[in-house]
Amino acid sequence: MLVTEIIRKKRDGDILSKEELEFIVNGYVKGEIPDYQMSAFLMAIYFRGMSKEELVELTMLMAKSGKMVDLSSIEGIKVDKHSSGGIADTTTLVLIPLAASCGVKVAKMSGRGLSHTGGTIDKLESIPGFKTELSEDEFVQAVNKVGAAIVGQSESLVPADKKIYALRDVTCTVESIPLIASSIMSKKIAAGSDKIILDVKFGKGAFMKEYEKAKELANTMVEIGTLAGRETVAYVTDMNQPLGLMIGNALEVIEAIEVLKGKGHEDLKNLCIEFASEMMIMAGVEKEKKLAQERAIESIEKGFALEKFREIIKNQGGDPEIVDNYSLLPQAKYTYELKCDDDMYIKDIDALKLGLCALKLGAGRQRKEDKIDYAVGIQLFGKIGDKIARNMPFAKIYANDEKRLEEAISDVKTAFEFSREPVPKRKVIFAKITKDDVFEF
Ligand code: URA
Repeated sequence: MLVTEIIRKKRDGDILSKEELEFIVNGYVKGEIPDYQMSAFLMAIYFRGMSKEELVELTMLMAKSGKMVDLSSIEGIKVDKHSSGGIADTTTLVLIPLAASCGVKVAKMSGRGLSHTGGTIDKLESIPGFKTELSEDEFVQAVNKVGAAIVGQSESLVPADKKIYALRDVTCTVESIPLIASSIMSKKIAAGSDKIILDVKFGKGAFMKEYEKAKELANTMVEIGTLAGRETVAYVTDMNQPLGLMIGNALEVIEAIEVLKGKGHEDLKNLCIEFASEMMIMAGVEKEKKLAQERAIESIEKGFALEKFREIIKNQGGDPEIVDNYSLLPQAKYTYELKCDDDMYIKDIDALKLGLCALKLGAGRQRKEDKIDYAVGIQLFGKIGDKIARNMPFAKIYANDEKRLEEAISDVKTAFEFSREPVPKRKVIFAKITKDDVFEF
């Protein structure tokens, strides 16, 4: 087979066979095909797209390029969850214990922060002692023992994606729906769960800025999952403003615990209840959505979900005392409150600006080798439509460096817009996509 012929075919919009895709993807992973030819191939996909069949072949080839996790020794239907990345989005830290406390088995592999969006693994590592690296055996044992475990994605998972993603990053081919969909779904399929729930974000703070594009991405991933034999349900949710009220690693752990205690912002809580109930249906733990929702609410109200989080933390070597004593988490040296000088309604909050501000404070990495500062971040006291009374704070900054604090004060101020008139609240869930239907809310 000739690589140039395969590139030419894709450039001209032809459909590639399984063998042709295998030749170019496996050849690239083995180092037999150079970056310049793979770059041309990726650019051809960027402009020409892929058929459903090509997409499934590409996704499965990528998934099989490394270790495929075997979760068969965990009894029951395992449901995985993935978010395309957001700000103040600590859903996973609430959802995993919540779903597990309702009987869903969750073997969760998570990532680190990417650019201005936070990562579950970084957040969990702010808990003293918490181990995010477990062997496959330990991972399976942990899920069998407590019903859920959350670990970092192992190095041997989907090497094809690592290599192709790095090349996409420097060849302007990241923003391609078939390439994003195959990248995400190859990792979900290799991670071994039977079913997958996806949270595709759109808006200022998300990688997908437009709703229609996010819907297309969600739909493409549902199609891949379905054709690959893994039932997949996708939600399209708003990321124009932050989801919860905390941005930063230890701060988001606190927010997750608050939601598990029945407090926290209702947007974050309601999204977690929706996802947990959907996971119960997918896992066959409940048959009716309404009953599943009631079970999730009850699990929070009766403290079962919080207890499950304590168990997960303890089982992975972390200090469960943090649940009752937040001062055991990393603490920032400086705090600063930004206040309203009159009664005001929040009109807009730029999620991207706040995400970038948290990144500059040290909550994320600007370079791969950067160390995270777990204590820093931003706390919000309301979302769009909420009223902030005169002399009350609308945001609080947590910093460990005076110069960074100064910069953050002006960044946070410019991320907020206020109105004297009431402002309608924004909904969070815009669409739910299954293999048979698209529901828009
Ligand atoms: N996240 C991924 O894992 N892959 C992409 O291509 C984009 C976001």
